[in-house]
Amino acid sequence: MTTSTIADSISTSPAAASAEPDHDARSLPSGGLQNVDLHCHSLASDGALSPSALVERAVEKGVTHLALTDHDTTAGLDEARAAAARLGLVLINGIELSCIWRSQTIHVVGLDFDDDQPAWRSALARQEDNRWQRARLIDHKLSHLRVEALLDKAIAKADGDVPGRPHFASVLVEEGVVGNSAQAFKRHLGAGKPGDVKACWPELAEVVQWICDAGGVAVVAHPRKYKMTATKLRSLMKDFQSAGGQGMEVLTSGQSSGDLGFLTELCRREGYLASRGSDFHFPGAPWCELGRLPALPDGLEPVWQGFSAFQPGT
Ligand code: AMP
Ligand code: ZN
Ligand code: FE
Ligand code: FE
Repeated sequence: MTTSTIADSISTSPAAASAEPDHDARSLPSGGLQNVDLHCHSLASDGALSPSALVERAVEKGVTHLALTDHDTTAGLDEARAAAARLGLVLINGIELSCIWRSQTIHVVGLDFDDDQPAWRSALARQEDNRWQRARLIDHKLSHLRVEALLDKAIAKADGDVPGRPHFASVLVEEGVVGNSAQAFKRHLGAGKPGDVKACWPELAEVVQWICDAGGVAVVAHPRKYKMTATKLRSLMKDFQSAGGQGMEVLTSGQSSGDLGFLTELCRREGYLASRGSDFHFPGAPWCELGRLPALPDGLEPVWQGFSAFQPGT
């Protein structure tokens, strides 16, 4: 998808603006400041930038350690790694896996896994099949909108790869069915709407297992985005932990200070590992920029502390 298409497709900012730009305030041995961003997207899923352009932008924005976490694919990692090596940024293997917990779609970020393990590769191949199956179902569920060749147009938006909901949203905008992408989600693709097809996703415990088996760490992405009550979110985190999950994103873009306080308290009390990720998709959204998040609150254990790239001597 082109930059302009994505930027055009999402026209409203979230109600709560992100906190002031910051860095995570730890010094590097080189004397510079460390800035860890463990959640972002490239053209390999629904982001607007190629993996190398994304890494270049991350460096410009002062990010020192980046995980590229495309939806259900690691296809962008090789290109991102080459760019990172060229520009002196540390790239951590990442992915954002879609799954189901109590009939709700949950996103689990996998970090620092071995991307070459055969069992992991076959799990990702199954997940790609799941995404294709879901794309066909979305096409079917939205047939009442009478957009000719909707699926083909969504595939074209994804440059021939499997289309996600933002690609469908972009077609609906282009065809004049809705005025903008936010409307497309509100009416047709968002939670509870016909195009919100969840039937294809594996269970939460299964994707956590995939990540653990590949030597990685599983993190619940943007916990407040699921609009759960505090009690339900605690249950989610308990089930996630029982499945082998260890981390939660305490810092994500567009989060209110109330949400940050709640997540900080939950993370600290239950002893989860804390993650920091912008969920950057495209340039031009001031509330969501690579590396532009506050420092992790005191008393939390950073998820990245155990990563190989953070061990002394590496
Ligand atoms: P998918 O993996 O195909 O279900 O797409 C998930 C992506 O859709 C998210 O990462 C966002 O980029 C986008 N998305 C989800 N909900 C909304 C929404 N309500 N408005 C705009 N974009 C959304
Ligand atoms: Zn996305
Ligand atoms: Fe997500
Ligand atoms: Fe994401």
